[in-house]
Amino acid sequence: YDIPELRRLDVAHHLPAQTDYGLQQRNGGSKIITRADGCTIWDGEGKPYLDGMAGLWCVAVGYGREELAKAAYEQMLELPYYNTFFKTATPPAVKLAAKIAELAGGNLSHVFFNSSGSEANDTVFRMVRHYWTLKGQPQRSIFISRWNAYHGTGVAGVSLGGMKAMHAQGGLPIPGVEHVMQPYKMNEGLPGESDADFCARAAQAIEDRILEVGPENVAAFIGEPVQGAGGVIIPPEGYWQKVEAICRKYGILLVCDEVITGFGRTGNWFGFQHYGLKPDMIAMAKGLSSGYLPISAVAVSSEIVEVLRAGGDFVHGFTYSGHPTACAVALANIAIFEREHLVERTRDDTGPYLAKALQRLADHPLVGQVRSLGLLGAVEIVSKRGTNERFGGKEGTAGPMVRDACIERGLMVRGIRDTIVMCPPLIITHEEIDRIVSIIGAALDACEPELRK
Ligand code: PLP
Repeated sequence: YDIPELRRLDVAHHLPAQTDYGLQQRNGGSKIITRADGCTIWDGEGKPYLDGMAGLWCVAVGYGREELAKAAYEQMLELPYYNTFFKTATPPAVKLAAKIAELAGGNLSHVFFNSSGSEANDTVFRMVRHYWTLKGQPQRSIFISRWNAYHGTGVAGVSLGGMKAMHAQGGLPIPGVEHVMQPYKMNEGLPGESDADFCARAAQAIEDRILEVGPENVAAFIGEPVQGAGGVIIPPEGYWQKVEAICRKYGILLVCDEVITGFGRTGNWFGFQHYGLKPDMIAMAKGLSSGYLPISAVAVSSEIVEVLRAGGDFVHGFTYSGHPTACAVALANIAIFEREHLVERTRDDTGPYLAKALQRLADHPLVGQVRSLGLLGAVEIVSKRGTNERFGGKEGTAGPMVRDACIERGLMVRGIRDTIVMCPPLIITHEEIDRIVSIIGAALDACEPELRK
């Protein structure tokens, strides 16, 4: 590749995702990533990086899987595309729907396909409101969500999400979304508060808001089982049971956004299974195809489907809903999961190994907390070990600074405010986990003088 020319074209013509375009220009273009294999990516200069983020929380089976390329190739030759609008479906779409229903289990019997997590949540938004209208309760239109949640970048996703910086751009959220406290005990716990008391307070915030707006007006509660883009926020045990009980008490639908937590990430096929929940709908994407092709899905309970069936046309669908090539790749991806026991391996082997390895960072003077569930992990950067004291005047800068130091040392991780988060491919080895932890440790050491200045 002619990397200088690609970087020039990047500045001249390309607007990358979630980017400060001024900085892109000042940097002389984006870092060009040219190839990948296993858990490693390479940039245009030939420098390798251990991919601690599985791309963007998605490349679960790792890079370079020939059988996924073959599945796409064969499906493209047979039937590259057909839609599901004309009372039509394709073999891969039908088979994948059945497979997802099997993996999700319980009453999540039916699946609607889209291309991205954002679209999946658009589907959730419209389907939930349509459902309540069909039930004769159209006033049940309000969604309850959490601050700092991430549900995508479309109008519904940004509105359901709780990212204030995203709300500020584009005049969102749209009316009908109520945001409540997130279960981020390290930041929002009171001094000396127990996990149980914190859970009770966070759940009470939800119930209070429901009562404030009127339970008869609330359509659904939506939440990521573990908030990913918010900073890998793992709620204390008991939180989700309380949330589910509140939903049941007021007849509110429970929607789990499994776009990150789905497909083995927590050591279960889905995050809701870790917490023993019975959601009415779940959204998934990313790990569904390990990012090899864009595809997402919403799995829906049979009770909801029964109501939809009685309601005539649901005037909702994407050109690429049930895209046969994307579905064929997703099926081949799930076959790899099953053959290599990636869910069980995450639960019994690599997940616990990561948890133990992260403990080595707990003694670092800049670490306030380490946490993980399965292969989702976070390191909280603070000014005083074991506390939640951030660097005064520099709040939110430690994550990106340490992230950059990790990237310099050949590790891709993400810096979210003052947190380093990781989400490696599910094929990660013990040796690679050790490398992630030691590079983060070295990056913390390197950043300490600057942070303490
Ligand atoms: N929901 C969650 C929980 C996510 O983490 C994301 C993306 O990170 C999305 C939705 C949006 O997915 P996409 O970027 O595919 O639109």
